[in-house]
Amino acid sequence: MERVNLLDFDLDGLTAYCAELGEKRFRAVQLFRWIHQKGEARFDRMSDLARSLRDKLEQLAEVRPLSILSEHASADGTIKWLYDVGQGNAVEAVFIPEDDRGTLCVSSQAGCAVGCRFCSTGHQGFSRNLSTGEIVAQLWQTEHHLRQRLALPVGQRAITNVVMMGMGEPLQNYGALLPALRTMLDDHGYGLSRRRVTVSTSGVVPMIERLRDDCPVALAVSLHAPTDTLREQLVPLNRKYPLAELLQACSAYLDKAPRDFITFEYCMLEGVNDQPEHAAALVALVSGRGGAVRVPCKFNLIPFSGDRPRSK
Ligand code: SF4
Repeated sequence: MERVNLLDFDLDGLTAYCAELGEKRFRAVQLFRWIHQKGEARFDRMSDLARSLRDKLEQLAEVRPLSILSEHASADGTIKWLYDVGQGNAVEAVFIPEDDRGTLCVSSQAGCAVGCRFCSTGHQGFSRNLSTGEIVAQLWQTEHHLRQRLALPVGQRAITNVVMMGMGEPLQNYGALLPALRTMLDDHGYGLSRRRVTVSTSGVVPMIERLRDDCPVALAVSLHAPTDTLREQLVPLNRKYPLAELLQACSAYLDKAPRDFITFEYCMLEGVNDQPEHAAALVALVSGRGGAVRVPCKFNLIPFSGDRPRSK
């Protein structure tokens, strides 16, 4: 029988699992804190858990890390890990240190079905959704690995920000994403503020609406074009959810968002979308001219290097 991966649960999920084992919620809180705050995977070291619970967990459960295929550290401190997620699939997580923060870019799917024209992941096609445990494991093992590697004082976090901008379209894996986000935000987990957790989407409008109601974190949208005609060529999802609907969803999202702006990612493709007329059309688009909805926003202009940009 396959063991239950405890990284698959947010605190409510772990509480329900512990209830199945005859344990009360406070035991789930203790267990959750051991796993996420202390990085402990061995039940025999969870010293304040009842022996009977530790014995049950030894039989039935595990905290399952991802296997690392490779690690690449750059001179600027950026570290990229490639993880094996089985059946020939690999996903990556990237740690980006800055003076006042440490950001982890996390993957949500092996491959991606959206097929953005400039994205190497899109060209690979879609393999499968990651589980909640596989999404959370990227944070869990990186955070606790970096605390040791950087010799951080007890209680100091290595990762202060998470961006769901790695491989995959997170809003097309919503069922797994939501408990992962809740674990990141939970004070008994990583305690990250909503402003410091960003979901980046290519524009899955109905799920933007659900995220606003379920777990409104910061939102980044891969825009890449100021018109439907051009965006349909670059981000095929635009055929299903055109710009007017997308901007409407962004505007509505701001009602509950932790920030008062949406970040629009814009990959600069030479001669395609980077001309002065594109800039003027973008400003018109988000400022509500011509009857469209106005969206307070910031643009993140991403130089295109010939490979997949780090943001969508
Ligand atoms: S840019 Fe993002 S949404 Fe588009 S194909 Fe690549 S991973 Fe998928």
